[in-house]
Amino acid sequence: MAAKPDYYESLGVSRTASADEIKKAYRKMAMKYHPDKNQGDTASEQKFKEISEAYEVLSDAGKRQKYDQFGHDGLKSTFGPGGFDFSRDFTHGADLQDILGSIFGDGGGIFDDFFGGGRRRSQRTGPQRGQDLRFDIEVDLEEAAFGSEREIAFPVSVECEKCSGSGVAAGSKRETCQHCAGRGTVVSGGGFFQVRQGCPICGGSGTIIKKPCKKCDGSGRCKTRKRLTLKIPRGVETGSRLRLGGRGEGGVRGGPSGDLYVVIHVRKHDLFERRGDDLYCQVPVPFETAAVGGEIKVPTVDGYAKLKLAPGTPSGKVFRLRGKGVENVEGYGRGDLHVKVVAEVPVKLSSSQKKLLKEFDAKRKDDNYPDGMKFRQRVEDFFGRRDAMKKK
Ligand SMILES: [Zn+2]
Ligand SMILES: [Zn+2]
Repeated sequence: MAAKPDYYESLGVSRTASADEIKKAYRKMAMKYHPDKNQGDTASEQKFKEISEAYEVLSDAGKRQKYDQFGHDGLKSTFGPGGFDFSRDFTHGADLQDILGSIFGDGGGIFDDFFGGGRRRSQRTGPQRGQDLRFDIEVDLEEAAFGSEREIAFPVSVECEKCSGSGVAAGSKRETCQHCAGRGTVVSGGGFFQVRQGCPICGGSGTIIKKPCKKCDGSGRCKTRKRLTLKIPRGVETGSRLRLGGRGEGGVRGGPSGDLYVVIHVRKHDLFERRGDDLYCQVPVPFETAAVGGEIKVPTVDGYAKLKLAPGTPSGKVFRLRGKGVENVEGYGRGDLHVKVVAEVPVKLSSSQKKLLKEFDAKRKDDNYPDGMKFRQRVEDFFGRRDAMKKK
């Protein structure tokens, strides 16, 4: 993996740059690399995300300080496990709109693309990118640990085939909206308080459909189910997001498709608990094995492993099996498995078993049970102090 670029270098500012200088630098670069100005250019999009990440950190005094002190490592808890994610971690949407609003008119369509809609550009008549979609899936711990493939089917709206997205029935055309005389806007109110609004009849387009396409009812779009084989990379965890470029909603009027984001949820496992790349497992062992020592079998995601217990292994002792955890999603090797050995008290003893234990009990010495001995000593000390107080 290539080293992450330095934030100051990304924005081309000095390490002592003021907040104003940082904003200016970001403004300049955001204009240059904005995805709307570089349609389909992935290098520009990458660069835009890179400078946005740098701006996110350097424009925030707290994050900047963490970065100055610890570098990229200092921000691990700030951003998710996969690092900075523009759509999730970029909190300066308003700044970006300030910066770009004047150039792109409506804040630069990036809000539609990255912030999940809400600001549709209803008046545009040119090609429009399809919406991004989010799809959540549950996977088992094994799938997350080793990676897998999964067939998924999800609803998606695509351009209507019958009318090629125009929404108009064959043989007819869109007609000028009478309500707004084709202007797309109407004036409401009177006197000083005249307000110009989008036309409610034609939705601002200035034209209406008299004979809608029967297949899509004039919307130009149809719902369908898309199927695809999803590759789940090893090491994913709950909250991991996979981006499948171009697998979202179909574009409008020849625009590109949106992206599909698959959000992973790892199911609870009945043997292993996962924290980061490490796994935790609790293994009950017979109390006599813990007492005299012996070899036990413990489960790992790779199969059984053998574990040697020394005589007198205390209940609750944790053993660390290196490299038996989950593969790191970024390729930093595997985590560990932490096995907690818990001595189990036997039940349903036969009379001969009971007899043996009673014989054993008769031979008990105080220092066989050091915890019990210490405890009794504390209890006696306590009663002693209490009795002394009572006598006063
Ligand atoms: Zn249609
Ligand atoms: Zn109208």
